[in-house]
Amino acid sequence: MRLISLLTFLLFTVPAWASEKIADQYPDSALYSKPVEVIPNVWTSTGATGPPTYENTGHNNNLNFIVTGEGVVVINAGAAYILAKALHDEIKEITDQPVVLVINENGQGHAMLGNSYWADLGVPILAHIDAYREMEENADFTLQRSRQYNKEKAEGTRVVLPSETFEDVKIIELGDFRIEVLYLGPAHSPGDVQVWLPEQKLVFSGDMAFHERLLPIFEDTIVLDWIETWENEFEKLGAVYVVPGHGHPTNMDQVRRYTRDYLVYLREKIGEHIDNGGDLSGAYYVDQSPYEHLDTFKELATRNAGRVFEQMEWE
Ligand SMILES: [Zn+2]
Repeated sequence: MRLISLLTFLLFTVPAWASEKIADQYPDSALYSKPVEVIPNVWTSTGATGPPTYENTGHNNNLNFIVTGEGVVVINAGAAYILAKALHDEIKEITDQPVVLVINENGQGHAMLGNSYWADLGVPILAHIDAYREMEENADFTLQRSRQYNKEKAEGTRVVLPSETFEDVKIIELGDFRIEVLYLGPAHSPGDVQVWLPEQKLVFSGDMAFHERLLPIFEDTIVLDWIETWENEFEKLGAVYVVPGHGHPTNMDQVRRYTRDYLVYLREKIGEHIDNGGDLSGAYYVDQSPYEHLDTFKELATRNAGRVFEQMEWE
C-alpha cells in the first residue's frame, strides 16, 4: 500500500520532463552523478538532462576534468559554489595533483557560477572573449535566477569573471596532454568553446553538440551559422570520442544525428512551410516527431520552430 501511494505521489508530482523521472544518481554528493573515467585520465560528471532545479542543484550540464600528470584542468565550474566544491572533493579522491586551470565552456550559469569557489583557491579561469562579455552583461541576472531555484544551496555563489580570455585558440601543454581550447565559430551561444585533445581524439564539444536532450535555439542562435561551423570546422577535427555539454559521452555519429541533422531537418520543414505560404503561428507546429523522444522536447520544440521561422523569413 505504501509503495503504491509513493508511486502515485511520484506520478502526479513530477513534471513531464522525462529526465526528471530519473532520480539523482549520487545522493551523497551535490553532483548529479559520480564522475566516470571516459578514457585514461579524462573524467566527466554527467548532469541531469532537464532544466535546473533545487533537486539537481543546477547540475544539468557536464563537469569534466583532465588529470594531466602536471596538474588537473577542470572544464566547467558548475552552476553553484557547492557544485565546484563537490567536484573538487571527487578530484582529491582520485589524485594529489592540484587543479591548475578552470575553463568555462561558455557564458551560461552552469559553466561559470562556480567560478567563485575556484577563484577563492587562486585557480586561474579561462573563457572565450565573447563568453566573458556575455558574463559581464548577464551574470548578475543569471546569479539571481539560480538563487530562485537553488535557495540555500546557492550560498557562497557569486559572480567571478574569468581571469584570462582568448580569441581563436589557446594551447596548453601540460604533463601527458596537449589541450587545445578552440573557438571554431558561431554555433549555439556566444563564446562557445571546444576543448580538443588531438592525441586522444576526444573533444569536449560544449554546446556545439547535443544528443540526449533536444537542443535549444536561443534568440541569438543563428542556425545557418551553426550548421556551417559544424560542417567546416567541428566535423574536421576528426573526433572519435565526444563529451558533449549535456548527456553521456558518445561519438560523432550520434551528435551529428541529433544536432547538425536536426538543424537541417528543421530548416527543411520550415522552408516547406514558408513555400506553402505558411505564417509564424503555423510554423510552431511543423512535424518534429523524429525527435519527440528526446528530453526537453516538450519545452523546446515549438519554440525552436518559431525561431527558425523568424530567421528564414528574411533569407
Ligand atoms: Zn549548455
